[in-house]
Amino acid sequence: LTIGTLAFLLAHRDEAEQELKRMATTDALTGLHNRHWLEERGADHLSLAQRYQHPLTAMMVDIDHFKGINDGHGHLVGDRVLAAFAQALQSVGRDADLIARYGGEEFCVLLPMSGPDAASELEQRLRAYVKEVLPAKVGFEVTYSAGIAQWRPGLLTLNDLFGLADAALYEAKRTGRNRVVVSAS
Ligand code: GH3
Ligand code: MG
Ligand code: MG
Repeated sequence: LTIGTLAFLLAHRDEAEQELKRMATTDALTGLHNRHWLEERGADHLSLAQRYQHPLTAMMVDIDHFKGINDGHGHLVGDRVLAAFAQALQSVGRDADLIARYGGEEFCVLLPMSGPDAASELEQRLRAYVKEVLPAKVGFEVTYSAGIAQWRPGLLTLNDLFGLADAALYEAKRTGRNRVVVSAS
């Protein structure tokens, strides 16, 4: 390591650190934040919601029969669908919403200071976008299923809330897909 290189590294340490942080919290394919980021930022929102008794709601979204898209059109087209779907979520989400790619073809939105009604409105905007805008972008129709759950006392962690939203999502899948279910509990 020369003195010059060392000086360069020191001078750009902040930028390098920021870039590393960005990479660690961003999903490269879609540009959305990743699950790690959601869990970290979400925990802060959960603390606030508990302390000030604000509502907090989560929505899980999973593309229907995505394996069939990969099998029928190829993995690259599947990737393009994921990116377009992420764009759809970003277009319909509000500034305060925390949007993340939760897993392969599963996305999660955490809505601070919001109840299930606000999440349902977001879901309706997403449904309209996916029906009317997405086909032109990817070349065929895509559907998704979603589950919505609100934070309530008795849940212990953010992951418990995501678990409830996931159970509602599973119910949407089980009862025919291309629909949203709001958790009753
Ligand atoms: P369901 O309606 O029940 O959700 O069925 P599904 O086919 O969407 O669900 P399943 O979990 O069986 O398949 C998900 C597929 O998503 C399998 C996996 O290969 C694919 N996948 C996960 N991550 C990526 C990715 O980054 N790119 C692509 N192209 N495919 C991915
Ligand atoms: Mg799926
Ligand atoms: Mg899935």
